[in-house]
Formats: sequence, C-alpha cells, structure tokens
Amino acid sequence: MSETVNMIDPFGRAITYLRVSVTDRCDFRCVYCMAEDMHFLPKKDLLSLEELERLCSVFIEKGVRRLRLTGGEPLVRKNIMHLVRQLSRHLESGALDELTLTTNGSQLARFAGELARCGVQRVNVSLDTLDPQKFRAITRWGNLDKVMQGIDAAQEAGLRVKINAVALKGFNEDEIPEMLTWAHGRGMDMTLIETMPMGEIDADRTDQYLPLSQMRARLEERFTLTDTPYKTGGPARYVEVAETGGRLGFITPLTHNFCESCNRVRLTCTGTLYMCLGQEDAADLRAPLRASEGNELVSRAIDEAISRKSRGHDFVIDRNTKRPAVSRHMSVTGG
Ligand code: SAM
Ligand code: SF4
Repeated sequence: MSETVNMIDPFGRAITYLRVSVTDRCDFRCVYCMAEDMHFLPKKDLLSLEELERLCSVFIEKGVRRLRLTGGEPLVRKNIMHLVRQLSRHLESGALDELTLTTNGSQLARFAGELARCGVQRVNVSLDTLDPQKFRAITRWGNLDKVMQGIDAAQEAGLRVKINAVALKGFNEDEIPEMLTWAHGRGMDMTLIETMPMGEIDADRTDQYLPLSQMRARLEERFTLTDTPYKTGGPARYVEVAETGGRLGFITPLTHNFCESCNRVRLTCTGTLYMCLGQEDAADLRAPLRASEGNELVSRAIDEAISRKSRGHDFVIDRNTKRPAVSRHMSVTGG
C-alpha cells in the first residue's frame, strides 16, 4: 500500500490514528468516569453501525493506519461484531495496520475468539484492582470474575492484552506493585493512568488525584525501572522493569505535555470529531455524512476540522471550584 498521508494539522503532525467511541453506554459505573445515574444519549442520536463504518473508511482513505474502538464499553453496543467484521476488511487489504479495542473486559469471554479471527491482535483491558470487593466498589456494578474470565479468553485466543489501571489516591496505590508483578507474570504490559478532570462525577477529583511521579518513586523502591524510547504515538511514556522483564507505561496528562507528537483524533458515536481530548472544540461529521451518499462533503469537513487541531490541551482541576476543565465525560470520547 502507498503511505500517502492526507491529514496534516497546522503543526505538521500527521493524523494516522483514530479512536472511535462506538457507544456512550456501559455496564459499569466507574467512580472516576461516570456518575451512578448517568444520562445517556437517546438512541436516535447515534450513528448506525453502517454509518460508523462509512466514516471510519473515509478516515482510512485519508491516511489513518491504526484504529481503536472504545466507548463507553464498546462490547455492549448491539451487534458490535458486525462493525469489527466490516473494519477487518481494511486489515486484509493492507489499508489499515492495526485494529484494537479498549474494553472493561466484562464481555471479552464472549467475543475474544471472534475478535482474534477478525484480525484484532491486541486489546487493552482496564482494571484498577485485583481485589473483588474493591473492584465492585470502584466500578459500582462490575464483577471481577467475569473480567478475569475475559482476560483468560483473550489470551487463549492469542490476543495480546495490556492492562490499563487508573492510579487513585488511597485506593490502589498500595496494590500497584502487586498488580504489576501479576500482569507481567502473565505476559501483559501495563499502563498507569493519572485521573483526568473530565465530566461531572459524584466524587471529588482532588481527592482521587495521585501524581504518577509519586507512584513511580514508590515503584522504584521495589523495581528497577529504565526509561525506554518505545513510543506508540500516544501519550504514554514507557519503562522496562528489570525484575519482571515487562514494560510499564505512564500516562500523565496533568504533569506532562505529550501533545507535540500527537497523531490522533477522536470520533464519538454521534459523529462528532474531537481533535483534542483536552479541548472543547469539535466538528460535526454526521450532517455532512447524511447530506450525501458520496463522501466528498464529509471528507471536506474532516479536512476543515484537522486544520483547526490545537497545539495541545490545558487540563487543570480548578482547586477553587473543583470543576472539571472539560465538561464532557471520558465515556463520550473514550479516553
Ligand atoms: N469502557 C472501556 C474501558 O473501561 O476500558 C473503554 C472506555 S474507558 C472511558 C477508557 C479508559 O479511560 C479506561 O482505561 C478508564 O479507566 C479511563 N478513564 C475513564 N475516566 C477517566 C478519568 N476521569 N481519568 C483518567 N482515565 C479515565
Ligand atoms: Fe465504563 Fe470504561 Fe467508564 Fe468504567 S471507565 S464506567 S468501564 S466507560
């Protein structure tokens, strides 16, 4: 395949990575992500799976090489495997290098085999604790056993699994060394995520915030961490852990600036394109998509949106008002 890159933003960054939030719904209510009584989008506002596929294909034609499905929980969207099967055609043709998924793991036991057969090679599973009671408390509705079965099924199907854990003060900071040993012992990389101030939740975010610099210092009491140049174009910085032979990533949106190498944009299930996770600016692609059977209008709308991609984010938890810097929830744009 040719390596043409059609989407270059004003700062010279090529857009080659698309994250697609296929639903804002979820079977969990993680305390840092959602309020318990979340209001979800009316079904009529959602793009159909066919429309989502059409939009993804336009992005692929325009130079996207890697695509990640997320949510909400992507595996609770009805008939989601239809979309995965459609998108897998682009893997076969070589137009797409990678199709991946970020999931809470609850439905993975059902879908892992078919995901692997569709050419998905890696999944990220979000997991913040290995303790069943704590798991129930942090997800409000989740069942750790099911997630563990999902991880087993994914590995049995030959999928590479990465564990994503949000570092939360007073919740899992003591457990993270043990989780790291567990993940690496099963051949899974792990990434730690700092909480980001997105959307109104029931809890106080300044109570949850744990700087990863502190977490890293604690880990270094037990492990030898060596910085590596390994990069995915995403926000994570990676270290090798000598004692386990595994890789550990740190995503530190509040304390670090990772924007200079940003190659990604985010599409929501209503067809809204966010050029930056940390900015409100967005472009509606649903109207141009629906306005014509051809893709010219939507292609132009994408170009116009990319030409407005900002240099970077400015996340901040306002310590006076304690209000989030970005009012939409992570489950809208999918992290
Ligand atoms: N439901 C799927 C899952 O949990 O993996 C995919 C969507 S979820 C919004 C994607 C990631 O965002 C998860 O790893 C989750 O822990 C993380 N996340 C959600 N809210 C967050 C927040 N306020 N700050 C940091 N990470 C957050
Ligand atoms: Fe659902 Fe993922 Fe948000 Fe948890 S982090 S509530 S699993 S979307």
